[in-house]
Amino acid sequence: MRLRALKSTLRTVGPTVRTLGDSWRTSGMTTGQRGYNYRWQQARARHLRNNPLCTMCEAAGRVELATVVDHHIPHRGDQELFWRESNWRSLCVTHHSSDKQRQEREDARHGIGPIAP
Ligand SMILES: [Zn+2]
Repeated sequence: MRLRALKSTLRTVGPTVRTLGDSWRTSGMTTGQRGYNYRWQQARARHLRNNPLCTMCEAAGRVELATVVDHHIPHRGDQELFWRESNWRSLCVTHHSSDKQRQEREDARHGIGPIAP
C-alpha cells in the first residue's frame, strides 16, 4: 500500500469529489428509487477508492482497509446530510458495528473529547 501517496490523495480529494460527470450514468437510467440506490453505490465505491483506510483505525495508528462508508452525523433521512461528502467517513466493519455505537454513548456522556481514565 502506498501510504504516502494515499495521504496526499486524502488532502486533495475535496475539490475533485464533485466531478461525478457521466461515469455513474448509464443510458436510460432515471432518478427514481433505482437511480438513487445506484447513485449511492457509486458514490460509496468512489469514496472507498479515495479513502480506502478506516479513519478510526488510522486515528489509533493502525492501518485497516475500510469496507463501509459511514455517516458521521446520523442523517436520519435528511437528504442534505446524506449526500454531504464531508459527513462521510470510511470505516472497517469492526468500527462500524461496535466502536461507533460505543463512541456515541461516550459522546452522549462526556461530550466529544479524549477518554479520561
Ligand atoms: Zn477500524
